[in-house]
Amino acid sequence: MHDTSQLLTMKYAFNLEWNELPEELREAKIREYILAGDKRDCEYCDGVGEIATAMERGDIKDSKPCFHCNGTGKVDPDPDDLHQQEEAEEEIRIHFPIYF
Ligand SMILES: [Zn+2]
Repeated sequence: MHDTSQLLTMKYAFNLEWNELPEELREAKIREYILAGDKRDCEYCDGVGEIATAMERGDIKDSKPCFHCNGTGKVDPDPDDLHQQEEAEEEIRIHFPIYF
């Protein structure tokens, strides 16, 4: 049992142009790249883990744990996030095909 991505990788291993790869393969590689990546700073709280609920003279007077990351400030990489897809594709494109 082979997965499609592996077979396509073998088929196109010697193709040196990322943009010439089939879209299906590029999408699979982008997903793989994102999922293999580190946890990311939570975008809702900027990686702080807390969201200010009250400010006083520019200082946080009261805050609550961020609901999005459960107060950890970190979230798992999300391969469905368009921004992360663009970032990942850019990274892959720059290093392609060395880390392919
Ligand atoms: Zn958060």
